[in-house]
Amino acid sequence: MSVFDRMRYMNPYDFHKALINEYVLKKPGDTKFLQRDTSSDKSDSDVLKSNHKFLWDDDNVPETWEERFAKKYYDKLFKEYCITDLTLYKENKIALRWRVEKEVVSGKGQFICGNKKCDEKEGLRSWEVNFSYVEKGEKKNALVKIRLCESCSKKLNYHTKRKEVKRLKSKKFKNTSMKEKKKSQSCSSTEIVEDNNEINEVDKGETSLWANLKPVEIKSREEEIDEYLEELLL
Ligand SMILES: [Zn+2]
Repeated sequence: MSVFDRMRYMNPYDFHKALINEYVLKKPGDTKFLQRDTSSDKSDSDVLKSNHKFLWDDDNVPETWEERFAKKYYDKLFKEYCITDLTLYKENKIALRWRVEKEVVSGKGQFICGNKKCDEKEGLRSWEVNFSYVEKGEKKNALVKIRLCESCSKKLNYHTKRKEVKRLKSKKFKNTSMKEKKKSQSCSSTEIVEDNNEINEVDKGETSLWANLKPVEIKSREEEIDEYLEELLL
């Protein structure tokens, strides 16, 4: 059973760990350069210590959609959440930085409070902040998220109340599972039913039906990945 078959039964943190273990620490391609310490699989802090190399580069492009999902997920994590230093919060000085690889892997700032000095895992809330940074000598701005526990959230909002990032209710069912979503599309949406009728009318033969459906399938998979990631990364 793949991670993706199991993921509907997982909470986001277990899914994160499974994805990182399966696709980032272990796969894809030749793993001869990769010394993966399997004895540390059970401990989060050991995942953090493990020395890994990300193997999807120009020579090794992800092939399956599961791999593409894992790569997108992993890449996105680097600029999705920030780590903050709230030491001088009373003086309205909030320091921000991008997460480093070991933090992305361990979930620091995503499943563990994003205050660099805090390890709280419960009651995390996402706050939207404007992050000004310099990349390759160029000044840039980005809206990023900081995930903070209750007491660190208070510090962040001490001078300025930040915007909280919340899950939209209407979107919640939309991506319960990629498979279920597909199933429900075929029976609940009148728009889709009409589409199907059109296809049936135009193409009676099986071959032409495939030719029509295939591009749609590819596009919706990519969209599903994007939508699912959007939902997952709050
Ligand atoms: Zn905290």
